[in-house]
Order: sequence, then structure tokens, then C-alpha cells
Amino acid sequence: MKTVVIGGNFAGITAALELKRKGKDQQEVVLIDKSPLFLFVPSLIWVPFGRRDVKDISFRKDTILEKRGVDFLNAEALEVDTVNQIVKTDKGEVNYDHLVVATGPKVKYDVAPGVKEFAHYIGTPNGAMKTRKALEEFKKNPGGIVVGATQNAGCMGAAYEFLFNIEKWLREQKIRKKVDLYWITPENYLGHFGIDGIKGGETMLKSFMKMFNIHFRTEVGVKEVFKDKVVLNTGEEIPAKFTMLMPPFVGVDFVTKSPGLQATPAGYIPVTDDYRHVTLPNVWAAGIAVDVKPPFTCGEVPFSTPKTGYPSDETGKIVAENIIRVQKGKTELKKKAWGKIPGICVMDAGKKEVIILSDKLFKPRNFAIMIPNVFYDFSKVLFEKYFLWKTRNGYSQLP
Ligand SMILES: Cc1cc2nc3c(=O)[nH]c(=O)nc-3n(C[C@H](O)[C@H](O)[C@H](O)COP(=O)(O)OP(=O)(O)OC[C@H]3O[C@@H](n4cnc5c(N)ncnc54)[C@H](O)[C@@H]3O)c2cc1C
Repeated sequence: MKTVVIGGNFAGITAALELKRKGKDQQEVVLIDKSPLFLFVPSLIWVPFGRRDVKDISFRKDTILEKRGVDFLNAEALEVDTVNQIVKTDKGEVNYDHLVVATGPKVKYDVAPGVKEFAHYIGTPNGAMKTRKALEEFKKNPGGIVVGATQNAGCMGAAYEFLFNIEKWLREQKIRKKVDLYWITPENYLGHFGIDGIKGGETMLKSFMKMFNIHFRTEVGVKEVFKDKVVLNTGEEIPAKFTMLMPPFVGVDFVTKSPGLQATPAGYIPVTDDYRHVTLPNVWAAGIAVDVKPPFTCGEVPFSTPKTGYPSDETGKIVAENIIRVQKGKTELKKKAWGKIPGICVMDAGKKEVIILSDKLFKPRNFAIMIPNVFYDFSKVLFEKYFLWKTRNGYSQLP
């Protein structure tokens, strides 16, 4: 049996390694990724400040995959013919028995005029390095700063992290007093995070904003970004010499250009709780590629739910387990709805951190706690070191 996994970062590399570990010689696994590198995306927030270089948080994945018996094709998947079970790539065609889509997000920069041209985005190595350069320039001639998330965004947590890190950086550069720092968010309250909040989160974030003298606007959208200001949907204009925004994520072109995948309008793969396609029994999805319905109603400005690293890794594992079960003729598959996966997340706040733990990502939860650590931010560093070690060694079975 041959399984082709498209996308090999958090979700895809886990699915591919687990398939091979569990399926051994019965299972041929091909992983297709346009990038030869594994990238620990969460640490990109530190790259603009020089706390990490991209090389510190990435490594070549071909050697580890080959060592574990997974064939790696460094190519871009262009589309899939689900009838004939063939993936078309820029390096030729690959046939499959089972297909796993783990292609992550495409960033929707055209969410509002000027976002692509004038706002920085730190979620790609290129974007993070451009931001580093822009901050070097900013230092010479400081002014207002706007950090936040646009309407329809879901990854607000990373933008909060950047906000507190830039605040710390401004103090280190001794220019904090020259900067009016603004946080803008579509969330209807601080700390909603696209998961309808955690008890105590709003109060804690409000106290952080007060302590660090950060102005904030909740339930706002971005009308337009200019070189020197951000215009909100409310008509308010905030002067900004530097802007960093988290735009919404949508599905990648490979998915939207493959009608056979029957993706949602946002370009995500519709699956049941076993991460199997709703109508195509040999197509599976894991990580950000999965369609997840936000479990809340927004206020006036729409926003979405985040798809973080832990559930991405978990869904990769579930998909691998279920493909093996199907191939063994079993009918009972492992099921875990996205919202029922435990919530494990660390929000770095620049020499401070908040650890967020819950038994389920979405409400109703039996328990959910936020543990602030105002003295140091070592948990995210531990998470980074652990995840890089685990992946570099191919220990995909570990949490
Ligand atoms: C700035 C930032 C900070 C974050 N911080 C945190 C955090 O602190 N904690 C946390 O849990 N989560 C965090 N996240 C979320 C986390 O990064 C994601 O949950 C995780 O990366 C999702 O994994 P994935 O495998 O689904 O997608 P990705 O990691 O995006 O991987 C997708 C892979 O698919 C490949 N690909 C895409 N299209 C194609 C194609 N057509 N052909 C071939 N290959 C393709 C890409 O090259 C990539 O390797 C953060 C995200 C961002 C942007």
C-alpha cells in the first residue's frame, strides 16, 4: 500500500513517520514538500529581535525521513486527480492508494488594501527577516507602532506574543518613551484567542496592557494600511511608522485548484472526527489543512479559531493510525474531534510567559487554567528544544 503525504512540517512529518513506524514494510510512504527544511514555526516570533536565526529553528528533513524509510520528494504539489489517484507536482506525477493533505495555510494578505505592501508579517522566515531589517531602520527614527490581527484572522496568539516581545525590545533599545504602542484585534474581548477565552485571561491581559502602557482596541477590523498609519473600520486612524499584522489563513493553492478535494470555500478539507474526508474514503487531512468550525459567535467583526501545533501533531498521529486500521480491514477508527483535543500552549510575553492548559481546546471544558510566569520565559524555549530534538530524531510517537 502506498500513502502520499503532502506537506511535511508539524502534521505531515508526524503522519509520515508514524505510518512508516506502524506499517513497516507493508507501507510505502512518500512525503512531498516544497521546502527541504523542517521549520519550528512558533519561534519565528523571536527572529525579528535577533533572539533566533532561521537556521537555529530549522533543519533538513530528508536525512531523517530517509533514515526512517520514508521517501522524500522535494517538489510542489500542484493538484490532485482524486479519480485516478494521481498527484501532479512540478517534478512529475505520483500515484497513491491513500492521500494525506497536511499543507498548512496560505496567508490572505489581500484581506484589506495596504496589508501586503505596508504591514509586516512574521509567520514566514522571509517575513521575519524583513521585519528584523525594518526594526533596525525604525530604531533610528522611532514613532507609532500598530500590532494586531485583521478581521477573519485566527492566529491571534502569535500576534500577542509579538506585541509583548516588541514592547520589551523597545525598552532594551531605550526608545520605549518615544513610541505610542497600539494593539488592534477583531476579538470581542482581550484573550478570546479564537477559543472563547480561558477564565482570568481577559483580566490578565488587561493588566499587562496597563502595566506596559499599550493602548488597545477590541472588535475592530482593518480598513486600510498606509506607510504611516492604519485606518480601522471604525474610521479611527492610528499613526504608525511600523505595523505588524496577522492576516487570516486560507487553504493553499494545491487544495483550491483540486476540485476533486471538495474543499470548503476557505480552502480547507472537510473531514469527520477520524480526519477522513467526508466523501473520499482514501483521502485524509491533518493540521491546519483540516476544516474546523469556530465554536463561538463573533461580535461585530468576524474572526476565526487558531489551529496550533499540538492538535496539528495529534491529527497527524490519528490519520496514520486510521490508515493502518483501514488497510488491516478494521472498521472502527480512532476519533477525536478537533475541539476535544487537549489545549497545551505557551504564550511568550518577552521575559514573561503564560502557560495555557485545558482538557479540551473548545468549550465545554472540565478544566482550563492560565499560569502566568512574570519572571522569565523558559517554557517556550523548552517546548522549542524538545520539539526540535524529537523531530530531528524522528521520535514521532512522542507527544
Ligand atoms: C508566527 C506563528 C507563531 C506560532 N506560534 C505557535 C505556538 O507558540 N504554539 C503553537 O502550538 N502553535 C503556534 N503556531 C501554529 C503552528 O505553527 C501551526 O499549528 C503548525 O505549523 C501547523 O502545522 P501544519 O503541518 O498543519 O502546517 P505547516 O507547519 O504550515 O506546514 C505545512 C507544510 O506544507 C508544505 N506545503 C504547502 N503547500 C505545499 C504544496 N503545494 N506542495 C508541497 N508542500 C506544500 C509547506 O512547505 C510546509 O512544510 C504559530 C504559527 C505562526 C504563524
